[in-house]
This record gives sequence, structure tokens and C-alpha cells, in this order.
Amino acid sequence: MPAFVVHEHHASRLHFDVRLEMDGILASWAVPKGPSMNPHDKRLAIHVEDHPLSYASFEGVIPENHYGAGHVYIWDHGTYDLVSGSVRAGRIAFVVQGKKLNGRFTLVRMKGTEKEWLLIKANDRFADPSFVLKTVHPV
Ligand code: MN
Repeated sequence: MPAFVVHEHHASRLHFDVRLEMDGILASWAVPKGPSMNPHDKRLAIHVEDHPLSYASFEGVIPENHYGAGHVYIWDHGTYDLVSGSVRAGRIAFVVQGKKLNGRFTLVRMKGTEKEWLLIKANDRFADPSFVLKTVHPV
């Protein structure tokens, strides 16, 4: 099954990078507030450059004067099942098997934008209306 990983990225601004293995690369979205298990949260997810598959296991430091300089931690990882859709279609429904994230999610591109998507948890048995994101490393 394809890999999914969420990097906690302590760059100039803390954000989370949600990555899904697709066609031999990691399709990637930068999510400023991070994923949520609460179906009421619609998290802005900026579609960013693909990363190589090998980056799924990366944790470490991006050096000063490189783009995204700062510490990168794995916030969650696992596998996922594609339900429907694609990046090109602007809509992806998928079911995640992670440690923190579980169940169905949708990524949907906002109308009239190129790179602005929303990441939304489906209201399934894994949904958690009281979800509060905890970072793996202090901010
Ligand atoms: Mn990042």
C-alpha cells in the first residue's frame, strides 16, 4: 500500500507537510495548522513541490540558507488507500492508516486557485470532535 507521512517542519513558520505516495513520488501539501481529526476543521493545505519517495523517512535538519531551513520531524506515518480522485482532478479521497490519523480524509482544491486546497476529515468512526494537535517537539 502507498505510504503517507506527515512531517512537522520547524521552519521560519511551523507547519506540517502532508505527503502521499503517488506514481513514484510524494505528492505534498504544506498545512499551516496541521491535520485534524475533527470533521469541522477545514485545514488550508498548500500544494507544494513533489518530493522523492525516500524523503518519507527523513528526519533531521535542513541547513541555514536552504529553503525550509529548520528541523523536520515525522509527526505521523503509515499507509493509505486511495478511494478516488487525483491531484489533477483537484480532489482526492483517501483512507489513512496512521498512528495519529486514521480513517477517511478528503483533499479538495479550492475553486479559482491553483495551489490552495482544504484537508478535511470525514465524519467516520475515527472522527474526533475534541481533537487537539500536539507537536512532537516544542515550538
Ligand atoms: Mn515544509
